[in-house]
Amino acid sequence: MNFTDSKRIIETGLVWAGWNDEQKEGMIKAMEAVNKQIPRKVIKTEKCSQACPDCLQPVNGKYCTLCGQALYYGY
Ligand SMILES: [Zn+2]
Repeated sequence: MNFTDSKRIIETGLVWAGWNDEQKEGMIKAMEAVNKQIPRKVIKTEKCSQACPDCLQPVNGKYCTLCGQALYYGY
């Protein structure tokens, strides 16, 4: 199972009836954490050629040092 599979399972679980607000919040937090682990393509902005697609800060590693988003480069 990879992180994309985990995301799908959490998304499916979220729509089930019967969760209380605390449980829903916990699942949303888990989803946010999983989303950070699925690499997203670095983008170009007006200010820099390599920016995090989530927080728009300049990046040059496998993870954004500000928000923790997993990254990939290239086409
Ligand atoms: Zn970021």
